Amino acid sequence: MIDPFGRAVSYLRVSVTDRCDFRCVYCMSEDMAFLPKAEVLSLEELDRLCGAFVRKGVRKLRITGGEPLVRRNVMWLLGRLGRHLDSGALDELTVTTNGSQLSRHADELFRCGVRRINLSLDTLDRDKFLAITRWGKFDRVMAGIEAALRAGLQVKLNTVALRNFNEDEIDRIIAWCGDRGMDLTLIEAMPLGDIDGHRADQHLPLSTLQEDLAERWTLLPSEHRTGGPARYLEIKETGQRLGLITPLSHNFCESCNRVRLTCTGTLYMCLGQDDAADLRAPLRESADDGLLDAAIDAAIARKPKGHDFIIDRADPSLSRHMSVTGG
Ligand code: SAM
Ligand code: SF4
Repeated sequence: MIDPFGRAVSYLRVSVTDRCDFRCVYCMSEDMAFLPKAEVLSLEELDRLCGAFVRKGVRKLRITGGEPLVRRNVMWLLGRLGRHLDSGALDELTVTTNGSQLSRHADELFRCGVRRINLSLDTLDRDKFLAITRWGKFDRVMAGIEAALRAGLQVKLNTVALRNFNEDEIDRIIAWCGDRGMDLTLIEAMPLGDIDGHRADQHLPLSTLQEDLAERWTLLPSEHRTGGPARYLEIKETGQRLGLITPLSHNFCESCNRVRLTCTGTLYMCLGQDDAADLRAPLRESADDGLLDAAIDAAIARKPKGHDFIIDRADPSLSRHMSVTGG
Protein backbone atom coordinates (compact mmCIF):
# COMPACT_ATOMS: atom_id res chain seq x y z
CA MET A 1 0.00 0.00 0.00
CA ILE A 2 1.64 3.21 -1.19
CA ASP A 3 0.02 6.53 -0.30
CA PRO A 4 -0.06 9.65 -2.52
CA PHE A 5 3.16 10.92 -0.95
CA GLY A 6 5.05 7.73 -1.76
CA ARG A 7 5.00 6.36 1.78
CA ALA A 8 4.54 2.60 2.17
CA VAL A 9 1.92 1.76 4.77
CA SER A 10 3.26 -1.28 6.59
CA TYR A 11 2.06 -0.76 10.14
CA LEU A 12 -1.50 -1.11 11.45
CA ARG A 13 -2.54 -0.20 14.96
CA VAL A 14 -5.81 -1.72 16.05
CA SER A 15 -7.86 -0.48 18.97
CA VAL A 16 -9.86 -3.55 20.00
CA THR A 17 -11.98 -1.72 22.59
CA ASP A 18 -12.56 1.86 23.68
CA ARG A 19 -13.15 0.67 27.25
CA CYS A 20 -10.63 0.75 30.03
CA ASP A 21 -10.28 -0.17 33.70
CA PHE A 22 -8.31 3.07 34.34
CA ARG A 23 -9.31 6.70 33.85
CA CYS A 24 -5.95 8.42 33.27
CA VAL A 25 -6.57 12.12 33.68
CA TYR A 26 -4.91 13.16 30.39
CA CYS A 27 -6.76 10.46 28.43
CA MET A 28 -10.32 10.23 29.71
CA SER A 29 -12.85 12.05 31.80
CA GLU A 30 -14.07 10.15 34.83
CA ASP A 31 -17.57 9.59 33.45
CA MET A 32 -16.60 8.50 29.95
CA ALA A 33 -19.40 7.45 27.63
CA PHE A 34 -18.32 4.28 25.87
CA LEU A 35 -19.58 2.86 22.59
CA PRO A 36 -22.63 0.61 22.71
CA LYS A 37 -21.42 -2.98 22.39
CA ALA A 38 -23.55 -3.47 19.24
CA GLU A 39 -21.35 -0.97 17.37
CA VAL A 40 -18.14 -2.77 18.18
CA LEU A 41 -16.75 -5.30 15.72
CA SER A 42 -16.66 -8.91 16.82
CA LEU A 43 -13.26 -10.52 17.32
CA GLU A 44 -13.89 -12.57 14.17
CA GLU A 45 -14.49 -9.35 12.21
CA LEU A 46 -11.34 -7.76 13.63
CA ASP A 47 -9.42 -10.87 12.64
CA ARG A 48 -10.78 -10.66 9.09
CA LEU A 49 -9.94 -6.95 8.84
CA CYS A 50 -6.40 -7.47 10.11
CA GLY A 51 -6.01 -10.33 7.65
CA ALA A 52 -6.98 -8.03 4.78
CA PHE A 53 -4.31 -5.50 5.83
CA VAL A 54 -1.67 -8.21 6.18
CA ARG A 55 -2.52 -9.46 2.70
CA LYS A 56 -2.05 -5.89 1.46
CA GLY A 57 1.42 -5.59 2.91
CA VAL A 58 1.14 -4.68 6.59
CA ARG A 59 4.19 -6.19 8.33
CA LYS A 60 3.57 -5.00 11.85
CA LEU A 61 0.40 -5.10 13.95
CA ARG A 62 -0.08 -3.40 17.31
CA ILE A 63 -3.09 -4.26 19.44
CA THR A 64 -4.16 -1.38 21.63
CA GLY A 65 -7.25 0.34 23.05
CA GLY A 66 -8.72 1.48 25.46
CA GLU A 67 -7.20 -1.31 27.45
CA PRO A 68 -6.90 -4.21 25.00
CA LEU A 69 -6.53 -6.85 27.70
CA VAL A 70 -9.92 -6.06 29.27
CA ARG A 71 -11.74 -7.12 26.10
CA ARG A 72 -13.30 -10.51 26.70
CA ASN A 73 -11.55 -13.30 24.79
CA VAL A 74 -8.95 -10.96 23.31
CA MET A 75 -6.41 -13.79 23.58
CA TRP A 76 -8.38 -15.66 20.92
CA LEU A 77 -7.72 -12.76 18.53
CA LEU A 78 -4.04 -12.63 19.43
CA GLY A 79 -3.77 -16.37 18.84
CA ARG A 80 -5.40 -15.98 15.42
CA LEU A 81 -3.14 -13.10 14.46
CA GLY A 82 -0.13 -15.17 15.51
CA ARG A 83 -0.68 -17.35 12.43
CA HIS A 84 0.54 -14.47 10.24
CA LEU A 85 3.83 -14.59 12.14
CA ASP A 86 4.07 -18.34 11.55
CA SER A 87 3.44 -17.89 7.82
CA GLY A 88 6.06 -15.14 7.60
CA ALA A 89 3.49 -12.59 6.35
CA LEU A 90 3.91 -10.52 9.51
CA ASP A 91 7.18 -9.44 11.14
CA GLU A 92 5.80 -8.37 14.47
CA LEU A 93 2.72 -8.55 16.68
CA THR A 94 2.80 -6.17 19.64
CA VAL A 95 0.51 -4.90 22.36
CA THR A 96 0.18 -1.61 24.24
CA THR A 97 -1.25 -2.09 27.71
CA ASN A 98 -1.65 -0.45 31.08
CA GLY A 99 -0.44 -3.69 32.67
CA SER A 100 -3.45 -4.31 34.90
CA GLN A 101 -4.23 -7.73 33.35
CA LEU A 102 -0.69 -8.76 32.46
CA SER A 103 -0.13 -11.17 35.32
CA ARG A 104 -2.69 -13.55 33.90
CA HIS A 105 -1.96 -12.99 30.20
CA ALA A 106 1.83 -12.62 29.91
CA ASP A 107 2.64 -16.29 29.20
CA GLU A 108 -0.20 -16.59 26.72
CA LEU A 109 0.95 -13.45 24.91
CA PHE A 110 4.36 -15.04 24.47
CA ARG A 111 2.75 -18.23 23.15
CA CYS A 112 0.82 -16.15 20.60
CA GLY A 113 4.12 -14.86 19.22
CA VAL A 114 4.21 -11.49 20.97
CA ARG A 115 7.81 -10.65 21.90
CA ARG A 116 7.61 -6.97 22.80
CA ILE A 117 4.99 -4.94 24.61
CA ASN A 118 4.62 -1.27 25.44
CA LEU A 119 3.51 -0.63 28.97
CA SER A 120 2.19 2.74 30.06
CA LEU A 121 3.31 3.94 33.47
CA ASP A 122 3.66 7.59 34.42
CA THR A 123 4.97 7.31 37.97
CA LEU A 124 6.62 4.90 40.42
CA ASP A 125 4.86 6.50 43.36
CA ARG A 126 1.80 4.59 44.56
CA ASP A 127 -0.19 7.69 45.58
CA LYS A 128 0.63 9.58 42.41
CA PHE A 129 -0.29 6.49 40.40
CA LEU A 130 -3.75 6.51 41.90
CA ALA A 131 -4.04 10.25 41.29
CA ILE A 132 -3.12 9.99 37.60
CA THR A 133 -5.04 6.78 36.73
CA ARG A 134 -7.94 7.52 39.11
CA TRP A 135 -8.84 3.81 39.25
CA GLY A 136 -5.55 1.95 38.76
CA LYS A 137 -4.07 -0.62 41.15
CA PHE A 138 -0.33 0.03 41.40
CA ASP A 139 0.62 -3.36 42.83
CA ARG A 140 -1.19 -5.20 40.05
CA VAL A 141 0.72 -3.25 37.42
CA MET A 142 4.03 -3.94 39.15
CA ALA A 143 3.17 -7.66 39.32
CA GLY A 144 2.16 -7.49 35.65
CA ILE A 145 5.53 -6.05 34.64
CA GLU A 146 7.39 -8.74 36.56
CA ALA A 147 5.19 -11.44 34.96
CA ALA A 148 5.87 -10.04 31.49
CA LEU A 149 9.64 -10.00 32.04
CA ARG A 150 9.50 -13.55 33.46
CA ALA A 151 7.53 -14.70 30.41
CA GLY A 152 10.36 -13.45 28.19
CA LEU A 153 8.58 -10.38 26.83
CA GLN A 154 10.65 -7.29 26.16
CA VAL A 155 8.90 -4.42 27.94
CA LYS A 156 9.18 -0.79 26.89
CA LEU A 157 7.81 1.76 29.27
CA ASN A 158 5.72 4.66 27.91
CA THR A 159 5.58 7.65 30.22
CA VAL A 160 3.56 10.76 29.49
CA ALA A 161 5.61 13.75 30.69
CA LEU A 162 3.32 16.03 32.67
CA ARG A 163 4.09 19.40 34.14
CA ASN A 164 3.83 19.54 37.95
CA PHE A 165 3.37 15.81 38.09
CA ASN A 166 6.34 13.66 37.11
CA GLU A 167 9.08 15.91 35.74
CA ASP A 168 11.02 15.41 38.99
CA GLU A 169 10.68 11.61 38.73
CA ILE A 170 12.16 10.98 35.32
CA ASP A 171 15.68 10.28 36.69
CA ARG A 172 14.27 7.60 38.96
CA ILE A 173 12.23 6.08 36.13
CA ILE A 174 15.32 6.00 33.87
CA ALA A 175 17.31 4.19 36.57
CA TRP A 176 14.41 1.81 37.33
CA CYS A 177 14.11 0.90 33.64
CA GLY A 178 17.89 0.49 33.41
CA ASP A 179 17.84 -2.04 36.26
CA ARG A 180 15.23 -4.12 34.41
CA GLY A 181 16.69 -3.88 30.89
CA MET A 182 13.73 -1.85 29.75
CA ASP A 183 13.70 1.00 27.23
CA LEU A 184 11.76 4.13 28.06
CA THR A 185 9.78 6.45 25.82
CA LEU A 186 8.63 9.83 27.04
CA ILE A 187 5.48 11.18 25.42
CA GLU A 188 4.40 14.78 25.20
CA ALA A 189 0.72 15.13 26.12
CA MET A 190 -1.45 15.42 23.02
CA PRO A 191 -4.64 17.46 22.68
CA LEU A 192 -7.01 14.56 22.04
CA GLY A 193 -10.55 14.45 23.40
CA ASP A 194 -12.39 16.30 26.09
CA ILE A 195 -11.03 15.73 29.60
CA ASP A 196 -11.68 17.39 32.95
CA GLY A 197 -9.12 20.23 33.01
CA HIS A 198 -6.97 22.23 30.65
CA ARG A 199 -4.39 20.66 28.36
CA ALA A 200 -2.04 23.59 28.44
CA ASP A 201 -1.67 23.14 32.22
CA GLN A 202 -0.23 19.65 31.70
CA HIS A 203 1.94 20.43 28.75
CA LEU A 204 5.64 19.87 29.35
CA PRO A 205 7.84 20.34 26.26
CA LEU A 206 10.23 17.42 25.90
CA SER A 207 12.90 19.75 24.53
CA THR A 208 13.10 21.37 27.98
CA LEU A 209 13.06 18.01 29.73
CA GLN A 210 15.81 16.64 27.47
CA GLU A 211 18.08 19.59 28.26
CA ASP A 212 17.54 18.99 31.95
CA LEU A 213 18.20 15.22 31.68
CA ALA A 214 21.39 15.88 29.70
CA GLU A 215 22.87 17.52 32.81
CA ARG A 216 22.87 14.17 34.61
CA TRP A 217 22.81 11.49 31.90
CA THR A 218 24.99 10.99 28.83
CA LEU A 219 22.47 11.00 26.00
CA LEU A 220 24.02 9.63 22.82
CA PRO A 221 22.50 9.89 19.36
CA SER A 222 20.84 6.68 18.14
CA GLU A 223 20.16 5.55 14.60
CA HIS A 224 17.03 3.67 15.69
CA ARG A 225 13.91 4.62 13.66
CA THR A 226 10.40 3.18 13.57
CA GLY A 227 8.67 5.46 11.07
CA GLY A 228 6.70 6.99 13.93
CA PRO A 229 6.89 10.20 15.92
CA ALA A 230 9.59 8.98 18.32
CA ARG A 231 13.22 10.15 18.19
CA TYR A 232 15.68 7.91 19.99
CA LEU A 233 18.75 8.44 22.11
CA GLU A 234 20.92 5.99 23.99
CA ILE A 235 21.52 6.51 27.69
CA LYS A 236 25.19 5.65 28.16
CA GLU A 237 24.92 4.96 31.90
CA THR A 238 22.13 2.36 31.57
CA GLY A 239 22.71 1.13 28.01
CA GLN A 240 18.97 1.51 27.37
CA ARG A 241 17.18 3.51 24.71
CA LEU A 242 15.31 6.71 25.46
CA GLY A 243 12.52 7.58 23.02
CA LEU A 244 11.02 11.06 22.81
CA ILE A 245 7.58 11.41 21.24
CA THR A 246 6.80 14.99 20.33
CA PRO A 247 3.65 14.65 18.29
CA LEU A 248 3.18 18.39 18.00
CA SER A 249 6.27 18.62 15.83
CA HIS A 250 5.86 17.90 12.12
CA ASN A 251 9.19 16.40 11.28
CA PHE A 252 8.11 12.76 11.46
CA CYS A 253 5.12 12.95 9.10
CA GLU A 254 7.20 12.43 5.98
CA SER A 255 8.27 8.98 7.13
CA CYS A 256 4.84 7.98 8.49
CA ASN A 257 4.18 4.31 7.76
CA ARG A 258 1.02 3.70 9.81
CA VAL A 259 -2.75 3.81 9.89
CA ARG A 260 -5.12 3.21 12.80
CA LEU A 261 -8.24 1.10 13.02
CA THR A 262 -10.87 1.58 15.73
CA CYS A 263 -12.96 -1.17 17.28
CA THR A 264 -15.94 -0.06 15.16
CA GLY A 265 -13.99 -0.55 11.93
CA THR A 266 -13.19 3.11 11.27
CA LEU A 267 -9.80 3.66 9.71
CA TYR A 268 -7.92 6.85 10.59
CA MET A 269 -5.17 7.60 8.14
CA CYS A 270 -3.56 10.12 10.53
CA LEU A 271 -3.68 10.39 14.33
CA GLY A 272 -3.93 14.16 14.05
CA GLN A 273 -6.65 14.47 11.39
CA ASP A 274 -10.37 13.78 11.51
CA ASP A 275 -10.69 12.23 8.06
CA ALA A 276 -11.60 8.55 8.35
CA ALA A 277 -12.93 5.66 6.29
CA ASP A 278 -15.66 3.27 7.35
CA LEU A 279 -14.56 -0.31 6.78
CA ARG A 280 -17.38 -1.91 8.77
CA ALA A 281 -19.99 -1.47 6.02
CA PRO A 282 -17.92 -3.11 3.24
CA LEU A 283 -16.81 -5.79 5.71
CA ARG A 284 -20.39 -6.71 6.59
CA GLU A 285 -21.85 -6.27 3.15
CA SER A 286 -20.11 -9.24 1.63
CA ALA A 287 -18.28 -12.35 2.80
CA ASP A 288 -15.95 -11.82 -0.11
CA ASP A 289 -13.13 -9.30 0.54
CA GLY A 290 -13.51 -7.39 -2.76
CA LEU A 291 -15.48 -4.47 -1.31
CA LEU A 292 -13.26 -4.30 1.74
CA ASP A 293 -10.07 -4.27 -0.34
CA ALA A 294 -11.46 -1.45 -2.49
CA ALA A 295 -12.41 0.58 0.62
CA ILE A 296 -8.90 0.12 2.07
CA ASP A 297 -7.29 1.21 -1.21
CA ALA A 298 -9.51 4.30 -1.37
CA ALA A 299 -8.63 5.20 2.24
CA ILE A 300 -4.86 4.86 1.71
CA ALA A 301 -5.21 7.10 -1.35
CA ARG A 302 -6.51 9.82 1.02
CA LYS A 303 -3.74 9.58 3.65
CA PRO A 304 -2.87 13.20 4.41
CA LYS A 305 0.60 14.65 4.25
CA GLY A 306 0.70 15.57 7.93
CA HIS A 307 -1.20 16.34 11.08
CA ASP A 308 -2.85 19.45 12.40
CA PHE A 309 -2.46 19.61 16.17
CA ILE A 310 -2.80 22.90 17.96
CA ILE A 311 -2.47 23.13 21.73
CA ASP A 312 -3.96 26.20 23.35
CA ARG A 313 -6.75 27.23 25.67
CA ALA A 314 -9.35 26.41 23.06
CA ASP A 315 -8.58 22.73 23.42
CA PRO A 316 -9.11 20.01 22.47
CA SER A 317 -8.00 20.36 18.86
CA LEU A 318 -9.47 16.94 18.06
CA SER A 319 -12.64 15.67 19.59
CA ARG A 320 -11.83 11.97 19.70
CA HIS A 321 -10.00 10.49 22.66
CA MET A 322 -6.76 8.56 22.41
CA SER A 323 -8.68 5.53 23.69
CA VAL A 324 -10.68 5.51 20.44
CA THR A 325 -7.77 5.42 18.01
CA GLY A 326 -5.29 3.84 20.40
CA GLY A 327 -1.91 5.30 21.38
N1 SAM B 1 -4.60 1.40 27.75
C1 SAM B 1 -3.37 1.16 27.08
C2 SAM B 1 -2.26 1.95 27.71
O1 SAM B 1 -2.51 2.83 28.52
O2 SAM B 1 -1.12 1.66 27.39
C3 SAM B 1 -3.39 1.41 25.59
C4 SAM B 1 -4.11 2.61 25.09
S1 SAM B 1 -3.48 4.18 25.63
C5 SAM B 1 -4.62 5.26 24.82
C6 SAM B 1 -1.99 4.29 24.69
C7 SAM B 1 -1.00 5.35 25.10
O3 SAM B 1 -1.57 6.62 24.86
C8 SAM B 1 -0.62 5.33 26.57
O4 SAM B 1 0.79 5.26 26.65
C9 SAM B 1 -1.11 6.64 27.09
O5 SAM B 1 -0.28 7.14 28.10
C10 SAM B 1 -1.12 7.50 25.86
N2 SAM B 1 -2.04 8.64 25.90
C11 SAM B 1 -3.36 8.65 26.17
N3 SAM B 1 -3.87 9.90 26.07
C12 SAM B 1 -2.85 10.70 25.71
C13 SAM B 1 -2.72 12.07 25.43
N4 SAM B 1 -3.76 12.89 25.48
N5 SAM B 1 -1.49 12.53 25.09
C14 SAM B 1 -0.42 11.70 25.01
N6 SAM B 1 -0.48 10.40 25.25
C15 SAM B 1 -1.67 9.89 25.60
FE1 SF4 C 1 -6.91 3.61 29.87
FE2 SF4 C 1 -4.62 3.69 28.58
FE3 SF4 C 1 -6.30 5.80 28.52
FE4 SF4 C 1 -5.04 5.21 30.76
S1 SF4 C 1 -4.08 5.83 28.83
S2 SF4 C 1 -7.24 5.67 30.54
S3 SF4 C 1 -4.91 3.04 30.69
S4 SF4 C 1 -6.67 3.82 27.65
